[in-house]
Amino acid sequence: MFNRTSQSKHCRQFEARFEDYLSGTRDAELESHVTQCDACRAALEDSRLAGDLLREAWEPASVPSLAFRANVMARIRQEEARAKSPAAFWTPLEFLASRLSLTAAVILLALSVYVVEFAPRRIELPSSMGMRTELSASDFPQPPGDPVSNEDILMSLSERNYGR
Ligand SMILES: [Zn+2]
Repeated sequence: MFNRTSQSKHCRQFEARFEDYLSGTRDAELESHVTQCDACRAALEDSRLAGDLLREAWEPASVPSLAFRANVMARIRQEEARAKSPAAFWTPLEFLASRLSLTAAVILLALSVYVVEFAPRRIELPSSMGMRTELSASDFPQPPGDPVSNEDILMSLSERNYGR
């Protein structure tokens, strides 16, 4: 019984060294104790597993960022190489321009089809549109159009200024 309590005290002393041991510090005393003590071996396995889980939780965040950085660096180097040789720089631009003009032609064709398809309906719109604009124009109060109200505003403003 005395032996057991003294051993558990002994074990607690080793438990504090688990972390250092797992992170690579040589600890022959701990190693030999673990071969004799089942409780400590289990505890060491547990903390090793916990450490692995922690590392796994951390690594997915760091690995893509490394890959991302490598990708970015590769792109920067590519851009630098392109900037150093003007001919190599213009070639993809020319390719892009030819593609863009082709796209523009397609868009123009689509637009002309759209205009031909929907133009007759658009011509009908102004009658209803005109009514709506008239209504909205009368709905809005228009202070700048009235010279009398403008004078009133100026008078009230000057009065306020003199009042100060
Ligand atoms: Zn032990």
